[in-house]
Amino acid sequence: MSHSKHQQLVYTVKDRCRVCYTCVRECPVKAIRIINGQAEVINERCIGCGNCTIVCSQGAKVYLRSDDAVDHLLMEIQKPIAIVAPSFPAEFTEIKDHKNLVGMIRALGFRHVCEVAFGADMVAREYKKIHENDPGEGSISSDCPAIAFYIQHYHPHLVKFMAPIASPMVAMARIVRKKYGKNSTIVFIGPCIAKKAESDEIDESITFSELRDMYSAKGISPDKVMPSEFDPPAAGKGSIFPVSRGLLQTANISEDILTENVIVASGRINFREAVREFENEKNDHDKHHLELLCCRGCIMGPGMTQKASRYNRRMSVSQFVRKKLENFDFEAWEEAIEEFSTVDLTQNHDVKDRRIPTPGNGEINKVLQAIGKFEHKDHLNCGACGYDTCRDHAIAIIQGLAENEMCLPYSIEKLHQSVMELNESNLKLATAQQALRQSEKLASMGQLSAGIAHELNNPLGVITMYSNILKEEIAEGDPIHQDLNLIVEQAARCKKIVGGLLNFARKNQVNLSPTNIIDFIKSSFSTILKPANIEIIIEQNIQNPVAQIDTDQMMQVLSNLEKNAVEAMPDGGKLTISLSDSPENITIEIVDTGTGISNENMEHVFTPFFTTKETGKGTGLGLPLVYGIVKMHKGKIDLKTNADPSQGSTGTSFILTLPRNNGSGFRE
Ligand code: ADP
Ligand code: MG
Repeated sequence: MSHSKHQQLVYTVKDRCRVCYTCVRECPVKAIRIINGQAEVINERCIGCGNCTIVCSQGAKVYLRSDDAVDHLLMEIQKPIAIVAPSFPAEFTEIKDHKNLVGMIRALGFRHVCEVAFGADMVAREYKKIHENDPGEGSISSDCPAIAFYIQHYHPHLVKFMAPIASPMVAMARIVRKKYGKNSTIVFIGPCIAKKAESDEIDESITFSELRDMYSAKGISPDKVMPSEFDPPAAGKGSIFPVSRGLLQTANISEDILTENVIVASGRINFREAVREFENEKNDHDKHHLELLCCRGCIMGPGMTQKASRYNRRMSVSQFVRKKLENFDFEAWEEAIEEFSTVDLTQNHDVKDRRIPTPGNGEINKVLQAIGKFEHKDHLNCGACGYDTCRDHAIAIIQGLAENEMCLPYSIEKLHQSVMELNESNLKLATAQQALRQSEKLASMGQLSAGIAHELNNPLGVITMYSNILKEEIAEGDPIHQDLNLIVEQAARCKKIVGGLLNFARKNQVNLSPTNIIDFIKSSFSTILKPANIEIIIEQNIQNPVAQIDTDQMMQVLSNLEKNAVEAMPDGGKLTISLSDSPENITIEIVDTGTGISNENMEHVFTPFFTTKETGKGTGLGLPLVYGIVKMHKGKIDLKTNADPSQGSTGTSFILTLPRNNGSGFRE
């Protein structure tokens, strides 16, 4: 951009940006970079069209304000001259007579108020010359600064086709300086943002919107000012310039495709298409004249405030022109044209290449894959990211303008995955919590039991010993002998319970030794009483039967589980022990065809003292003990059961998974 002050023309108000990518989509030159989820205008690439300031529904795109700078100019001794763009009737529709508007501008303190439209009159004559003396090489109009920046930045090889003619604004500045002094300060007032960066020949440039703000700040209104006419030179048909095709009308150039070779295009999509076509016309001698406006006519410029329709704005401008031409002093106008015909209206255009090299296909495909586009059908080209195609988006990512997350389908997919992962870890967390609760419960029970067991052990020993001594002293037939027998029996039972409690409360330590699990399982059957109606089956599918276990403790595990299984099959059944292994783990499954465990009991089976067995038979310490020992082996215990005959045959299986080497625990 040629803005002498190198100021950023358009920028983002970060707090307001909701990252909808509308600005990315609407920016004709992709000058908006999304970085860390924030839209940022790249000044280097921006052509100042201001389209983003119009389309952003959040007001997050704003343009450089120059009204303060103009206020400063107005305070200087030599007052600045205002040159007003011909689109003003489309903006100030509420001011019926333009003389009021001129009066208001004067009231701000301007020395003179002139019409840019006279510059347009002069410039139009130059364009007419180009068209009339056309050697068939075509040309691109250079009156719209955003278009000029576009060609200079993005189609540098077309710069040579740009008409070497100043814009109406710059032409008018030169005319005003000739008329009112070459040191005059000049402020342009118009609908355009790009004008702020167009030329060093203009001191400041404000939009109509900024002009309105200056009016309100100073309390200037149409009824409070002296109406007055624009200062000379008075404009003619140039006033029609700001509507699209205005240049042609001002210059009396026919747009008839048979006689003239003019293509008119305006608006961000059309002008780019026209340039692309122009570029593709193979032979330079086939080229057309392009009359291009970035906005859909200057009357639709971003510096306008009114939301009026394009048709209404067009009407306002043409009504103003028609009214003016009704009593127009053509002679005076022609004299003025003559007077300023010596003013140099030429303008050179430099190449200012701002293109970013397009990456290679390999690189593009890599990025496409990273956003989940592997095949042609994955390219949805939905445009949600702001780019027309997935390929364009990928290129922009490589160029540092865009981010992967802008791809909506990709982000949704990622979100789905995260939700799934979250669900999974929630589930794991719930299981871990459950296990933690269980072991906390067991730990506190363990402490209590250890205390009680320790305290009871000695008195129990005394009771047993003294009852036995007493028993020996009393004849067998004596009823007291029987009573004593009962005491001895019950004391023995107490000792068994206390022993169980001590086992359960054992500290977290295991004494591991390599053991052949098949032999170990076989020997475990000698610890239980096997009724005749129960069949025992050992199934083994094991590669390596050796594992590191604490044989004493593991024997208690097996005998408890086997005993429970047998007790669950009072009417007989099958007790199957299956063995399987992996390099890391050994799995022992103890399956019975017994009663099964009801849903409500499932909650409690590992809780100490929970038993469904009649008093004297069950202690409810078996499974907590099993659980504790398996955990000490860093293994896990699973339980499947069915207690409802309507759901199939009943029975229970306990599945123990033990790490073979007990290093870091079992592995899934
Ligand atoms: P106990 O055997 O002394 O009752 P356990 O802790 O060994 O204590 O078992 C607790 C309860 O779990 C048992 O009372 C029984 O209800 C249930 N249970 C354990 N194993 C089985 C099984 N194989 N089949 C059915 N129920 C079982
Ligand atoms: Mg038991």
